[in-house]
Amino acid sequence: MPRQVIEQTAQAIQEFDGMGLSILEISHRSKNFERVVAEARQSVKEILSLPDRYEVLFLQGGATLGFHMAAMNFMKEGGSAVYANTGVWAAGAIKEAKVLGQVDVPFDSSDKNHSYIPNVVFEGNYDYAHYTSNNTIYGTQYAAVPQSSVPLICDMSSDIFSRRVDAAQHALIYAGAQKNLGPAGATLYIVDKEQLGKTGRKLPIYMDLQAHIDKDSMYNTPPVLSIYTCMLTLRWIKEMGGLEGMEQRNFAKQKLFYDELDRNGLFHGHAVPEARSWMNPTFRLNDDSMASEFDAMWKGAGISGIAGHRSVGGYRASMYNALPIESVQVLVDVMKEFERIKG
Ligand SMILES: *Cc1c(COP(=O)(O)O)cnc(C)c1O
Repeated sequence: MPRQVIEQTAQAIQEFDGMGLSILEISHRSKNFERVVAEARQSVKEILSLPDRYEVLFLQGGATLGFHMAAMNFMKEGGSAVYANTGVWAAGAIKEAKVLGQVDVPFDSSDKNHSYIPNVVFEGNYDYAHYTSNNTIYGTQYAAVPQSSVPLICDMSSDIFSRRVDAAQHALIYAGAQKNLGPAGATLYIVDKEQLGKTGRKLPIYMDLQAHIDKDSMYNTPPVLSIYTCMLTLRWIKEMGGLEGMEQRNFAKQKLFYDELDRNGLFHGHAVPEARSWMNPTFRLNDDSMASEFDAMWKGAGISGIAGHRSVGGYRASMYNALPIESVQVLVDVMKEFERIKG
């Protein structure tokens, strides 16, 4: 999280907007909070340059509920969908869609432990197509929005607002807030409303994106604090130059890291270079017996949380939007120093 956003959130927990109350105790129906939701929704539209047919919602349930929401709102009764399987989150989305109908998975990177992104082109007689733009565990990311002649849905949880993207190619984008946007609690939905209402399904009210649109994203009590903090982060993104500013910042970070990875003789990456994630670089020591010494070094430098996921091993240096380049430099310096000692 950006430091200024944490400080502003702390302030609002003390007292929010001159109301004499903490943000933790206000009514979500107060005018003050309605303004927060309105600004957050508007900022998403601005930052992504969304055409008017798009609506922005802040709901709950995380991306995990999004897996099923996507299918519920886009898969016709007796219909089918096409998915790309590029990792654990993509597989989760596939599983939840299969509850409702037929799912074809013609693109699948599991043969090489998801170290690459298949050449995805979605076509055929499907209700929708689904992909996962960034795969946190394996450190892979689509280089561009895949081509699709069917309505396209993306789980953008772990790279939303990190660089320029043509959001208007999508029927639906969903993203849990907790990676690039704010604290856990809110889940962002960006939906082309002209593509809703075609399934013939009767939906439970909370699962119905149209019901949330009709109530301006306030059908029931929303996650107030999380939305407030998301709104502050969106302000910060705008101050930083919007998506272009984020792209420059994140480009520099990933270049600093991957240049060192490619130069340093002691390490190799998990992801193939064409599919490298800007958000979650994954890497390993060539000689795992050096691990305890390397671990002591990065811990000594004040780094935390770079142990890799058990299904890949090694290391994963998550570099979400707010992480400053100085933090990447600390890791790069440790890698250089380790090579100097060992080399
Ligand atoms: C983190 C992540 C998830 C999990 O989201 P929850 O909000 O915890 O349900 C799903 N998809 C992707 C791409 C993620 O990065």
